[in-house]
Amino acid sequence: MKTIFAKSIPGRQGLMPDAPAAPAAAHLPQDLLRPAAPRLPEVSELDVMRHVSELSRRNFGVDTNFYPLGSCTMKYNPRFMEHVASLDGFTKLHPLMAQLRGAGHFTQGALEVMYETEQLLCEITGMAAFTLHPMAGAHGELTGVMCIAAYHRDKGNKKTKVICPDSAHGTNPATAALAGYDVVNIASVDGMIDPEHLENALDDDVAAVMMTCPNTLGLFERHLERIVALTHAKDALLYYDGANLNAILGKMRVGDVGFDVVHLNLHKTFATPHGAGGPGAGPVGVAERLTPFLPVSRVVKLKDGRLFLDYDYPKSIGYMAPFYGNFGVVLKAYAYILRQGREGLTRVSEYAVLNANYMRKRLESHVEIPHDRLCMHEFVASAVAQAKQGVKALDVAKALLDKGHHAPTVYFPLIVKECLMFEPTETESRETMDQFVDDLIEILSLAGTDPAFLQHAPHTTPVGRLDETKAARDMVLTDDA
Ligand SMILES: *Cc1c(COP(=O)(O)O)cnc(C)c1O
Repeated sequence: MKTIFAKSIPGRQGLMPDAPAAPAAAHLPQDLLRPAAPRLPEVSELDVMRHVSELSRRNFGVDTNFYPLGSCTMKYNPRFMEHVASLDGFTKLHPLMAQLRGAGHFTQGALEVMYETEQLLCEITGMAAFTLHPMAGAHGELTGVMCIAAYHRDKGNKKTKVICPDSAHGTNPATAALAGYDVVNIASVDGMIDPEHLENALDDDVAAVMMTCPNTLGLFERHLERIVALTHAKDALLYYDGANLNAILGKMRVGDVGFDVVHLNLHKTFATPHGAGGPGAGPVGVAERLTPFLPVSRVVKLKDGRLFLDYDYPKSIGYMAPFYGNFGVVLKAYAYILRQGREGLTRVSEYAVLNANYMRKRLESHVEIPHDRLCMHEFVASAVAQAKQGVKALDVAKALLDKGHHAPTVYFPLIVKECLMFEPTETESRETMDQFVDDLIEILSLAGTDPAFLQHAPHTTPVGRLDETKAARDMVLTDDA
């Protein structure tokens, strides 16, 4: 496909607005002006419309196709939430108005959304308080671990280590290291954290244990209560990576089990489209004893019901994000939670788990499933048998693109060889999953009969198979493709 620059014809133009009365450049310092006009494409409005429509047809997303990318919860998010997030009363509010004297009445609505969302997330997770500031899951982790570090400092504890099981999401050890801790890895046994391994690794230097539950194998940890008791016995805190909350909404509250910190990914569970580096939000909930350390500002409700932003928390870890985080994402989560209600949210998880188990059962006689038991919202398969025939997990993933599906997550988690990780989410129908499974079974059987076909897939996509190493090391960026 030609770029818009390649379609440029000198002199062609769309609608020309009237020239402004005074040339704006006259007011600018001369040394800031361009020496020559920028090279812009010269095209008609129709050229632009066709170009953009053509590009959008080449785009891949949940709106166009099935997207079972494990660990990412690529579910369909109702358009209604986008409508709510685009309401004038919110979009035309300047974030500084919250600090403007006499402008309080303009901002009460937005503050109420933040306050109520925090309350709802407390109710959903059983935590004492939330901050909505972190801009992503990993940013939430950093916020949470910084609160843990502040807690230990405040108590005079000298702690240097954070324990992460090998089934944790990769961001967990990265976060602990970024926060200045030594990371202690413990090996899982049969996909579960082993309490004995944990006990051996737990000494007085351990500040926290970080776990992902359900873990990256899509399995629910069996020994949660033991893990909590062992950890607390050493005055270490428990961090719950709640990015997989889509599996446990309405079923289990991490605060009730004794976890001290949790982060959620609003852009996975709560109605913000995920991926492509778009805005996210990773709110962090903490137990009562950690509330003094939460970032500022915090939304506080006065006796008369008015809301204001309070910065007066001397033990706070400070600012983690400009203003109040990604407000639009919070707004969508708020609308989504209210619309689903308690029963709706519970059903979200029930269907997410049901769908994953349905796909797992349909696939189990066609591909190896290393931990083939009841899974949560996702499951992991292994293309080891196909690899012996010369077809790797990557080839299977590429071949799925030819069938119009997004690939599953591949080679993650690291503890499963030739790993393929599937997460259908609750918003997909049985028909869509059946089509995907039928196509996948056909691909798996081709491994025995025509491995070369799979090794060269995809055959029908706008971009074929790249040499990924060369593409990274020796990048060629050009607009004249
Ligand atoms: C997605 C995910 C993260 C990271 O979230 P980002 O918003 O991408 O930073 C952390 N943990 C788990 C379990 C995840 O699935």
